[in-house]
Amino acid sequence: MVVETPTGSGVSAGGVLLSLEAALERMLDGLHPLPVESMPLEDTVGLVVADPLDALVTVPPWDNTAMDGFAVRAEDVRGAHPDRPVLLTVTGDVAAGHAPAGGVGPGTAMRILTGAVLPAGADAVVPLEETDAEQGIAELPDVVAVREPAERGAHVRRAGSDVHRGDRVHDRGKSIRPAAVALLAATGHALVPVHRRPRVAVLSTGDELVPVGRPLGAAQIHDSNSPSLAAQARSAGAEVRTLPPLPDTLGEVLAAIGEQLSWADVVVVSGGVSVGARDVVKEAFDAVGRMDLWRVAVQPGKPLAFGRAPRAHREGDVLLFGLPGNPVSSFVTFELFVRPVLRVLAGHADPFRRRRLTARLAEPVSKSAGRRAFLRVALEPDPERPDGRVARLAGGQGSHVLSALALAHGLAVIPEEHEGLPAGTEVEVWELDHDC
Ligand code: AMP
Ligand code: MG
Repeated sequence: MVVETPTGSGVSAGGVLLSLEAALERMLDGLHPLPVESMPLEDTVGLVVADPLDALVTVPPWDNTAMDGFAVRAEDVRGAHPDRPVLLTVTGDVAAGHAPAGGVGPGTAMRILTGAVLPAGADAVVPLEETDAEQGIAELPDVVAVREPAERGAHVRRAGSDVHRGDRVHDRGKSIRPAAVALLAATGHALVPVHRRPRVAVLSTGDELVPVGRPLGAAQIHDSNSPSLAAQARSAGAEVRTLPPLPDTLGEVLAAIGEQLSWADVVVVSGGVSVGARDVVKEAFDAVGRMDLWRVAVQPGKPLAFGRAPRAHREGDVLLFGLPGNPVSSFVTFELFVRPVLRVLAGHADPFRRRRLTARLAEPVSKSAGRRAFLRVALEPDPERPDGRVARLAGGQGSHVLSALALAHGLAVIPEEHEGLPAGTEVEVWELDHDC
């Protein structure tokens, strides 16, 4: 493996580039999932469960009704017909949340509402619509006329028909989605053992930057990287602290990074990582820890800084990312490098998992040879293949063109060896609305 000297400010623009895989290998080296915490269920969406979870209760816990109607004995209504309704004496009422006062014997019925416990003796429910009480009834009638027969078990949800106590309801290593929250709540899990959320501090550097919401002065632009990187980190499951933009001065950048070392697992700085006179991030990383690498063969994305610093008052290292300032580059390099790191910290088994598909290029594309390009593309149905997609450039591919990034459905991956590809070539596309 050819790797570049990790430190030093004099590496030329033509120096050896590190491959994406080699860079990722170094970033993920020695990385472990964060400690396990017992967390309130509702706070765990997106987090990875550290122990298998079994149902603590049976769901439903008892037989209950799926309809509003009358709890009956199926054999009593076997001969029911619209022309010859069966008359049953109504002995009471059962609502959800109330134990039935009494049971159902021969020739009787109880009115019952959805989710209520099926009274003893009843083995079927006749929906309101199949009785003379079809309009709903304020008063409990003395007698109900049943117009249709009911099979045993009709409209009855059996105890345990969903889950039995002790059944596995969530595997170790699987993340929690809203549907899993529902199942875990139903089966009694108020607290869930999960790897804690990675803590990410987001900083940006540049004398030209102003936080969004403030008017722009001469020579100023809005800081778009911090909000973007914060959003990306959150959607990768992180807890995020965003700092106001920093000026291009070593002292301020160093102090801001230093302050985050007692809290953050990962510090993401954008801007100031090239070799310009005002690019102070690498120097700051060197001052707080070790700088590991800084030129990777991806487009957009050069230059990139990665380092590690000892945590303040804690075990282990804080990971330091210095992403390029150009907004599309910072976005893409986050997806390429920071997201996999956050996924490992969060306990995901596969750090690189994301939705990918194959699409045909709708038009020719060009790129720099020797770097893997991630083009911002919109996907459309392929007129020539029923389930296929074509990928069309979503707009300008300059690393400052956020409008194309925002329109893009995905990043089309063009391998290192090509300088361009003709229309019609099949390419891999990473979808951007990842949800795993
Ligand atoms: P740099 O990496 O600092 O040399 O910045 C490269 C380009 O990205 C310049 O045009 C900067 O103005 C722009 N840039 C840097 N940081 C940000 C940011 N946080 N938001 C928007 N644009 C930025
Ligand atoms: Mg700058």
